[in-house]
Amino acid sequence: MNPPGDELPLAELLVDFAREAGLEAQVVPTPAGKSKVGRAAAWARLAGRGRDRPVVLLSHLDVVPADPGGWAVDPFQGLVAGGYVMGRGALDAKGLAITHLLALTELARRDASLTRDVIFLAVPDEETGGRDGAGFLVRKRRDLIGDAEFLLAEGGGILAADTGSANVWGVAVAEKAPCWTRLTAKGTSGHASTGGLHGPVPRLVSALERVRRLQTEVRVVPDVERMFAALAPLGEPEDRAGLATLGAALETDPAFRRRFLADEARAALVRTTIAITVLRAGTSPNVVPEEARAELDVRLLPGDRCDDFLEGLREVIADPSIRIEPILAFESKSSPADTALFRAIRAVARDIDPGALVVPRVIAGFTDAHYFRELGVVSYGFVPRWLPPSETRGVHGVNERVSVDNLERGVEATIRILEELGR
Ligand SMILES: [Zn+2]
Repeated sequence: MNPPGDELPLAELLVDFAREAGLEAQVVPTPAGKSKVGRAAAWARLAGRGRDRPVVLLSHLDVVPADPGGWAVDPFQGLVAGGYVMGRGALDAKGLAITHLLALTELARRDASLTRDVIFLAVPDEETGGRDGAGFLVRKRRDLIGDAEFLLAEGGGILAADTGSANVWGVAVAEKAPCWTRLTAKGTSGHASTGGLHGPVPRLVSALERVRRLQTEVRVVPDVERMFAALAPLGEPEDRAGLATLGAALETDPAFRRRFLADEARAALVRTTIAITVLRAGTSPNVVPEEARAELDVRLLPGDRCDDFLEGLREVIADPSIRIEPILAFESKSSPADTALFRAIRAVARDIDPGALVVPRVIAGFTDAHYFRELGVVSYGFVPRWLPPSETRGVHGVNERVSVDNLERGVEATIRILEELGR
């Protein structure tokens, strides 16, 4: 789990497995950073005929911690029972790494002759931002992905509908961008008995009150407009017309706007969100501290820039004594949906899941895909497994699990997509 990481043993295991199946494979050392553990990525390649540029299957080896208290089983035991693999990482993302690798070894076994190389890459450090994982590899080991044209990773998937409704194949083409921000107020430390009205803590609190009251602008970017138009047929009957023309409806139909924005997950796709998440100051009630600090998890719409947001934030806070600085920020580029890979996914959906809706999605979170989009690789978040909403809650939650059936269907769907793309 990460921290500290310690992905090396798993990378070795996967590489051994790939080599036994006849694939070219290697363990790729990555920086240990502050942790004193072994860190590495696993890489393997199924060589194609070289007519087209490679496709990368990206996953990650690290997982978030799990407090066994809330779990029905030991989260790190890897129990297989009742048709499920249970444990931390079953969905996010060891299950995906296994799905990718089995698709590759099965294609090798079948002697598939594809037009392009398929590259398996399972990286460390995704859960803490990926700087020592995918970030390191795109900076220092570009050779591992060659001149890749496409990449498939986590971020989207198949929403299994209740009976009577269509499954939704959500292919993430864009992500919101983080603009994590630190606010710092400084002053002189002293005895609190004489009052401390202008100390760092009250100044920070009033700045945060302004942040808390901030209403960010509602704005529909083209990727989001297209996504809701595609999903409109599945909406509540009174919402369908609005979803089909989201930007206009949010401006002209106040009742629709209220209903749409009441759903936080939807609202997050049409505005910058700001969560006040970290507060640090003081150690004792009778001491005015020298410094007070807060951190904000700000998520921008695709295309927006953190610098612009911070400039606006400085105006809102209107207190030059508060230092405002970014702690994690990158721009979010989106991938086009009109590509051979998207068409391959659509063709496979039509074949194995008739009636399913294939939707280019924007997601509110971010994944390692952004490192590759920045290189110009067309990157989609799409995991071929059929999950009802109740099971997606296992991601970073308790009782994470994936059915063996889903793993098997995921391997087969991945194979089909690669064949469709590489024939
Ligand atoms: Zn993940």
